[in-house]
Amino acid sequence: MDSNPEKTYNVKNVSEDLVDFYLYECMAKHDSCTCSRCVADIRAYALNNLPPRYVVSSAGNAFARARAMSTQAKADIIAAISNGINIVKKNPRHDL
Ligand SMILES: [Zn+2]
Repeated sequence: MDSNPEKTYNVKNVSEDLVDFYLYECMAKHDSCTCSRCVADIRAYALNNLPPRYVVSSAGNAFARARAMSTQAKADIIAAISNGINIVKKNPRHDL
């Protein structure tokens, strides 16, 4: 018998949350286009260039854990986003 049937666990890639967390700050710093196509391209680029960081989470504790991550990991995430911004800036795929 499960003593706590309400409890559900998810496997979550916290890299996604962290990219979203820093994305707009980085885009503002780099004066990036913020249309939905460019945002999606930058997210995809950053996530393809970062190791996935899967954690088992129950109801929203994953992000708190992700934020406790090392400074180096944070720097890697910001660097991946910045590279994505530069690439999208050179080759924007939005319709003008
Ligand atoms: Zn754009």
